[in-house]
Amino acid sequence: MAFSDPGAKSTSLRDHADYVSLTMEFRCNLRCVHCMIEGTMDRLEPQSDASFDNVLDEQRRNRRWRGLILTGSEVTLRRDLPDLARRARAAGFARVRIQTHGARLARPDYAERLLDAGVNEFFVSVAGSDRDSHDRIVDVKGSWDRMMAGLDYLDDKPDVRLITNTVVTALSYPLLPKMVDALSHLKRLVQMEFWTYWPMAEKDDKKLCAPHAEVLPCLARAIRRAHELGRNVEVKNFPHCLLIREGLGDTLVNDQPLLLIDPAFWDEFARNGFDQCVHRTVCRSRACLGINTAYADRFGWDRDGLAPLTEDQH
Ligand code: SF4
Repeated sequence: MAFSDPGAKSTSLRDHADYVSLTMEFRCNLRCVHCMIEGTMDRLEPQSDASFDNVLDEQRRNRRWRGLILTGSEVTLRRDLPDLARRARAAGFARVRIQTHGARLARPDYAERLLDAGVNEFFVSVAGSDRDSHDRIVDVKGSWDRMMAGLDYLDDKPDVRLITNTVVTALSYPLLPKMVDALSHLKRLVQMEFWTYWPMAEKDDKKLCAPHAEVLPCLARAIRRAHELGRNVEVKNFPHCLLIREGLGDTLVNDQPLLLIDPAFWDEFARNGFDQCVHRTVCRSRACLGINTAYADRFGWDRDGLAPLTEDQH
């Protein structure tokens, strides 16, 4: 069986080729249950000053990108973050994005320092739909309140783009529609991203994967609600054919900006075993990452639930 996607429309910022992403910090002060690098955080090295300088030089010379993403585990733990942002803007980056859990943004003096330095995009991790669920998943009390205070503060600032990032797990998927509602008041929230969990291993030892068929109704409701609010939506690592069945195929965007990261990360990443599917040889989806090893180990390959795309559907 194959599905068509009559509702397909442009639903993502789709500007990944315009950005370069540097991992500048591997410490974190939350304990998210779904953390995908908790086992490697201590070993991975942030990008060096020389690597950062090389990116700035390239930008000065060739204006290769529009935006720079400063990321890692929790990049606001870097004391020189405002300085990095200021140097990036001076080198010709029009957009500087930080990826953060948002807790420090609750302090207006700190938020103002970042804004003053030229940070104008905030990619904020939202784990739950309210104080209880979010704080339970990130395992630090007060996190929701601080994150929301930061988002609310930034929502009044000109030239700011807010983007949220949610890891979809067995714990979070039922919360997705309410999460969209909880953020509905934010005027500058331009995009919500839903990243289906991958364990960076061959086994889902934490039992955080959830069957795609169970996730789909909640995910689809959240996407539609976000669209009603005028948000773009990007979904990562979810079967393309299932989203197409809901008329939401265009929300699957597995593209990423060029990522500069410790090469040791890719050894762990490869353990996920992406791009497997019993229909892979006949399916024409160019966006889909299929089923990963840990998911198949728990739930099987779902031959009958998945439907290979035809050439005109990809
Ligand atoms: S590769 Fe598999 S999961 Fe992905 S769209 Fe094709 S059939 Fe569906």
